[in-house]
Amino acid sequence: MSQERQSSGVRRSVRVGVIGGGQLGRMMALAGIPLGLSFRFLEPKEDPPCASVGEVVRGAYDDPDALDRFSDGVDVITYEFENVPVDSAKRLSERVPVYPPPMALEVAQDRLVEKETFRELGIGTAPYRRVDTREELDRALVELGMPAVLKTRRLGYDGKGQAVIEDPDSAAAAWDRLGGRPLILESFVDFERELSCLAVRSRSGELRVYPLVENAHTDGILRESRAPAPGITAERAREAAELVERLLDHLDYVGVLAVEFFDTEEGLLANEMAPRVHNSGHWSQDGGGVSQFENHIRAILGLPLGDPRPIGWAGMVNLIGGIPPRGESLGAGGARLHLYGKEPRPGRKLGHLNTRAETLEGLERRLAELGEIAARYGEG
Ligand code: AMP
Repeated sequence: MSQERQSSGVRRSVRVGVIGGGQLGRMMALAGIPLGLSFRFLEPKEDPPCASVGEVVRGAYDDPDALDRFSDGVDVITYEFENVPVDSAKRLSERVPVYPPPMALEVAQDRLVEKETFRELGIGTAPYRRVDTREELDRALVELGMPAVLKTRRLGYDGKGQAVIEDPDSAAAAWDRLGGRPLILESFVDFERELSCLAVRSRSGELRVYPLVENAHTDGILRESRAPAPGITAERAREAAELVERLLDHLDYVGVLAVEFFDTEEGLLANEMAPRVHNSGHWSQDGGGVSQFENHIRAILGLPLGDPRPIGWAGMVNLIGGIPPRGESLGAGGARLHLYGKEPRPGRKLGHLNTRAETLEGLERRLAELGEIAARYGEG
């Protein structure tokens, strides 16, 4: 289905509409263009990362006129961030198939609904409480104990909109900063490491699961990923895949779904899900199998999915706040460079470096070299 006949009889390429014009949409297009597809993005900001890989309809995500212009003549619609207005996704789905289904957005946009969904499906989470008032915060702190993490239910990402509470003083400070919005308090999880599981399901029901990924964060921002997660047992890998499959079934899901887990002595605890391609799957672009971006596009078009497994070991280092000179990045550790076309700003994800190796030791050596370069030029 790489071409469709128009009413004029002229063939045109299949056009994918993407809500959002950031780096994830850009990388989807970079994966889909070789398949003969073309891309259109809906994005309010000027000069987004997607501008160089497709047509951009400039408009707000909830502007009916922009939604009409965006959807006119596209064959399928997807999105590259999870805060797409649900009403817009539903409106678009009346005209064009929208994948992943809008219900996945509803679950992922609210940390409370998300955790309740996990629990309903028998997926473990940290103990949590809904918090709307200062009294509810005090009660929840007594029930869950400290340390705990207070988070906004909506619009938090990369550690934004959250505060760790360790004592009564930090509880007051957290409330001053976050109070007045719907919140959730979670027990602080003393995890061994953070893992993520990405899976992809196509319109035809075909399912593939990427190997579990180990992710290192600082200040709530992903810095490095390793795939497969070193030292993972077959049992834990199966457990993660099984939990994600339950979510895919429940949501009648199509596309790539990412679930972030805390790996603890007692087992896996789900932290959050992202109904989209995910930073912790970027290694797959150069890991030797079919990337998350290409598999997402294949899935939403009902095309056969590709093997997600890396050959050997794969890793990724984010470039945050600053960009090393190209020559320096490319001269190091078998690096593949992916830049997003964004202006440097502290704490901003500007690109990433992928690498792979035959052995875990080899991967560690390469990641150390890449991490050092990223840190030298990065900020935040
Ligand atoms: P989130 O925005 O929920 O993905 O949180 C960002 C990061 O904060 C996570 O990747 C963890 O490193 C940390 N974090 C979030 N929730 C908790 C928790 N309940 N216990 C310990 N660390 C957490």
